[in-house]
Amino acid sequence: MTILFTKGLSVAGRRALKTALAGLLPRARFSPAPGGLELSGPDPRRLADAAPAIENLPGVAAVKLGMAEACPLACSRRAPSRRPMDFSRGPVFIAGPCAVEDEASYLASAAALKAAGAHALRAAIFKPRSSPYAFQGIGWAGLRIISKAKKLTGLPLVTEATDTRQVERLAAVCDVLQIGARNMRNYELLKEIALSGRAALLKRAAGSSLRDWLLSAEYLLAGGCRSVLLCERGDLPLHDGGLDLELMTEARRISGIPVLADPSHPAHDRAGALRLAAKALRAGADGLLVEASADPLSARVDGRHTIDIEAFRGLTGK
Ligand code: PEP
Ligand code: MN
Repeated sequence: MTILFTKGLSVAGRRALKTALAGLLPRARFSPAPGGLELSGPDPRRLADAAPAIENLPGVAAVKLGMAEACPLACSRRAPSRRPMDFSRGPVFIAGPCAVEDEASYLASAAALKAAGAHALRAAIFKPRSSPYAFQGIGWAGLRIISKAKKLTGLPLVTEATDTRQVERLAAVCDVLQIGARNMRNYELLKEIALSGRAALLKRAAGSSLRDWLLSAEYLLAGGCRSVLLCERGDLPLHDGGLDLELMTEARRISGIPVLADPSHPAHDRAGALRLAAKALRAGADGLLVEASADPLSARVDGRHTIDIEAFRGLTGK
């Protein structure tokens, strides 16, 4: 933790500040830093907890927590317990329509996507939509359908939980619980998913920083989640090139957590989604979460950027 002094802080002021700091964090060690002090020693959780009180001390201009101090678990590079997908053999492809709509179309897409190289299925039955009038997903009626798809293909299911009350029932069937961009900061949902025993796929909220994203991953890990995946999905809903691939690369470097990219939601159309998919893979994405189906033209939602099976096969190279 770096503590910056207010301008012109006297020697007596510094001494008083050190005494106050030692009172707040008895095990802390201090070393000089440009314009202030470097404080180390205490458990990162203690540092984060004490930061607001330190900020409030006379003589303190600012308090800065390093990323590894703010997110010790997310930055620890510790080996996760088994992941539902194997990331050691090249990019992992999670594919499926935006939403499960009906049994026949979903099972047809699931089988075709498996044959075209999917490693897991998008299986969204609850959809967080910007408009209350837009299709919200088929809800619990879809659970039977996605279970069937899992039996049929043997592929793990990735489904979004939009509310804490859905978590237990979804976790009984699905392998990965997705936290959508809108819910990245829904801390109660993160805590509930952490307790579910399932892996979590955490999207970056539009406009959020790497630190905020990793802090949300930290909630999952601190809550007991043993397998976290990150997914970069861009900042603007309707702009090609909207994936922040620099931030994705930095997230991979700093955390060691697999980082996927969603090329679908930042794309204007399916050609744009394919361009973004190729770009993300070239930039080193650990995989893609991509909207793909057997019949994108009849999709109720997001068909415009959903790719078809042949285009998906082009991505996997199968
Ligand atoms: C999704 O992947 O189904 C989705 C809703 O995306 P986002 O949370 O990124 O908007
Ligand atoms: Mn969608």
